[in-house]
Amino acid sequence: MNKNDLIVVCGAGGFIAGHLVKRLREQGFTKIRAVDIKPINEWFQLFEDVENISADLRLRERCFEALTDARYVFNLACDMGGMGFIETNRTACMISILINTHLLLAAKEFKVDRFLFTSSACVYNTDLQKTSDAIPLTEDMAYPALAENGYGWEKLLSERMCQHFEEDFGLPTRMVRLHNVYGPHGSFEGGREKAPAAIARKIAMAKLTGKHEIEIWGDGSQTRTFLYVDDCIRGLIDVMNSEINYPINLGSSELVSINHLVDIVSKIAGVKLTKSYVLDAPQGVRGRNCDSSMVFEEIGWAPEYTLEKGMGLTYQWIEEELSPRFSGMGTAVPVVADSEGEEEQLGSN
Ligand code: NAD
Repeated sequence: MNKNDLIVVCGAGGFIAGHLVKRLREQGFTKIRAVDIKPINEWFQLFEDVENISADLRLRERCFEALTDARYVFNLACDMGGMGFIETNRTACMISILINTHLLLAAKEFKVDRFLFTSSACVYNTDLQKTSDAIPLTEDMAYPALAENGYGWEKLLSERMCQHFEEDFGLPTRMVRLHNVYGPHGSFEGGREKAPAAIARKIAMAKLTGKHEIEIWGDGSQTRTFLYVDDCIRGLIDVMNSEINYPINLGSSELVSINHLVDIVSKIAGVKLTKSYVLDAPQGVRGRNCDSSMVFEEIGWAPEYTLEKGMGLTYQWIEEELSPRFSGMGTAVPVVADSEGEEEQLGSN
C-alpha cells in the first residue's frame, strides 16, 4: 500500500478496526477515512488526524460516498457480537450482507486497488465441531457448507461475493477468516461482548466487589482458540499486501477450554473463584480449533502473543475501566450492564 493513497476503514468505531486505524497511522499512512454507523463519540478509539464519518453502510449511497477517491478498503463493518447476540439476532447478522455488497459495488465503480473483507471461523461446517478435542479447521472445511446460523452464512456468502467480484470484474479482493480476536478497547459489557472480555469483566467484578464467584455458560469444557488483537492487525495488513485472493484463516492454534481460560484470568487478577455453571446458556459449537499453516506458508504470519500475555493486557484494561465505578462507593456495588443477551462464555467466532 502506498503511504499517501486514501485508505478507507469501515467499522472503525468498533474493536478491531479501531486498532487497525491506530496501526495504519503509526505506519505512516497519511490519508485514512474511518467510517462507522455509531455516533463518533461512541467509538472505542478516535483519532483527530483521521477523517471520521458516521454513516450507515447498509445504504448504497453512503457506501459510494465513503469510497470516493479510495485506493484501499478494509471492510470490518458488521452487526455482530458474542454467541448470546448472534444466536438471538440472526436476521440482523444476515442483513450485514448489504454492507459488503454495496461496498463492493462502490469499490468496483471507483476501481479501488484492494478490498479486504473480514470473514469468520463461523463459516466452518458445524458438523465438524461437535467435540471439545476439536480438529484444527483448514480452509477447505467450510464446504460442504453448514455454517453457523445467520452470522456464519452471511460471512460465507460475502466471501463468495468478493471472489466473484474479482473473477468477473477484476477487483482485487482479500478474505480473512478471523478466529476469536480479543484485546483492550472493545465491548466488555452490554450484550455484544465475547468470551475473553466477558470473563475478564466477571473476574474484575469479583475482585472489586470481593464476591469471589463466577458464572460460566455451559459446562466449561467447550474449547476455542483466541487471537490477540495486535497479531490480528499485523495479519490483516500482511494479507492486504499479499497476493492471497482466497479465504484464509487468521487464528491461534492454542486450544483451551473455557475453564482453563477462567483459570488463566483468575491467576492474572490474583483471585480464587468458585465456579458455577449455566448449562442451558448459548454456547455455540462444542469445540473449534484453527489451522493457520496456510497463511504461515504463504506470507510467514504466525501469532506472537501467548494467551497469558494477551489476556494480561486485556484484563488490565477492563479492570481499569471498571475501577472508577467503585471509587468512593463504600460497599455499594455499581451496576454493570448485563443484559438478557449477556455475554457468551465461549466466543462466537
Ligand atoms: P465490532 O462490533 O466491535 O465492530 C464492528 C463495527 O461495525 C461496529 O463498530 C459497528 O458499529 C459497525 N457497524 C455495524 N453496522 C454498521 C453499518 N450498517 N454501517 C457502518 N458500520 C456498521 O466487532 P469487531 O470484533 O471489531 O469485528 C470486526 C469485524 O471482524 C467484523 O466483520 C466481524 O464479523 C469480524 N470478526 C471478528 C471476530 C472477533 O473475534 N472479534 C471474529 C471473526 C470475525
